[in-house]
Amino acid sequence: MFGKKKKETPQEELAPHEMGPPVEFKAKGGTETQNQANLIQVRQSMGIVFAKEMYAECLFKAADRILMDLSREGLARRCDIDGVWHALPPLDLQSGMLLVDVLKKLANLNPADRKSQQHGEFACSFRDKHYASDITSQGTPTGERILIKIRDVKKKWTSLTEIGMREKMQHQYKLLVGRHMEGEDADKSLKRGLFVYSAPPAGGLTTLWTVGLGATDRYMRDFVGFEDKARREPEVENIEVYEYDAAAGQDVTTLLPKVLLKQPEVFVAPELPNAASLNALCDLINNEEHMAFTSVRAKDTAEALLRLLALKPKADSFAQAVTGVLNVRLIRKLCEACKQPYQPHPQLLQRLGIPPGRVAQLYQEWQPPPPGSLPPDPKKKKGEEEEPQICQICGGLGYRGRTGIFELMVINDAIRQALVRQPDPNVIRQLSKQAGNRSLLEEGILLVAQGITSVVELQRVMK
Ligand SMILES: [Zn+2]
Repeated sequence: MFGKKKKETPQEELAPHEMGPPVEFKAKGGTETQNQANLIQVRQSMGIVFAKEMYAECLFKAADRILMDLSREGLARRCDIDGVWHALPPLDLQSGMLLVDVLKKLANLNPADRKSQQHGEFACSFRDKHYASDITSQGTPTGERILIKIRDVKKKWTSLTEIGMREKMQHQYKLLVGRHMEGEDADKSLKRGLFVYSAPPAGGLTTLWTVGLGATDRYMRDFVGFEDKARREPEVENIEVYEYDAAAGQDVTTLLPKVLLKQPEVFVAPELPNAASLNALCDLINNEEHMAFTSVRAKDTAEALLRLLALKPKADSFAQAVTGVLNVRLIRKLCEACKQPYQPHPQLLQRLGIPPGRVAQLYQEWQPPPPGSLPPDPKKKKGEEEEPQICQICGGLGYRGRTGIFELMVINDAIRQALVRQPDPNVIRQLSKQAGNRSLLEEGILLVAQGITSVVELQRVMK
């Protein structure tokens, strides 16, 4: 023993939960005692180490979903980062089962039941941030599938700037939605009209709805909301919400007599269930100078209008009421730390409709250098010198975070006429273009020209 340094604590003496990266899990879904017991149990399982490793990687890369398939071959895993699935290293069957069982136990689900659908929730923290995880497990013909949705519990989108809307469009938008303006625009703000928010099923509508309404004058005017009790939207501050029961045949018109007694100025309905509801709001807008907001899933503004027309409202009343439609498409942003400039070919610029001489360079996502192009590193052994450095910000993905591409259609009389006489999406798109509204693609090209995203990514999201 003399002269010998005391050995560091060997790995075998550490409990499983003391190993691995610093992810702290919190059990939920049961009583306080059950949660405590569940946590103690998972801390003894090697599965907790796999869970910590997986979460550290996913949270570092800002993934918001993890999908796992357990079968006789083992556990296949992938994660969704900014709307794109990426593979995670697979685990062998035994390790995979340990991991899945730990995750289910954390949500107070029954790990032994690999057949029925189970749903629960647990929490974790990593690098001073707190996350909630929704977990669903379900038997499949080959085994079991587990889907986890991760939410950063503090992150809340608050402003139009933060979700990527350019200044000029924000100004146009605020005039359309009746926001009180100072100075020369003080009288230009609309006081009546139907405004429609839209986004494709892939996502963005909830955020657009919350942030879009957040930018209206809801503190200055009386807003009321109508919602189907089975599909509550996240609350928007200062809007009093009335619920109807669509399953029992109720709709917006059921609530109107009671609500109108309060003399509200603005109506908010995240989803219009039928023609009667849409007709009722349009009548209030056209006859009594009210304002109303609704939302619909659609891939652009023209399609959003046609989806509302598909409810078969009185077309002329609808056309008279509607004043604007906003659509959002989410797009990944190039990683600022590793994006690579290149000189675009004149033909590419022409194709994008960017005038020659306007941009000297565009940006693309990080590409590993071609083999043999790196100078040899004397410190490295033969065969290792061509390992490229991986960006620590984006983990080598080339993208980090997302922003919105916004299409704002300001409705004019030509578009109103088309809605009544020729409700064809291409006709409406053409008329919108003539009215000076930019399309999603044109708005996306602006982001490419500014180096915020790449041509390849724009093509991907516009498909
Ligand atoms: Zn990067």
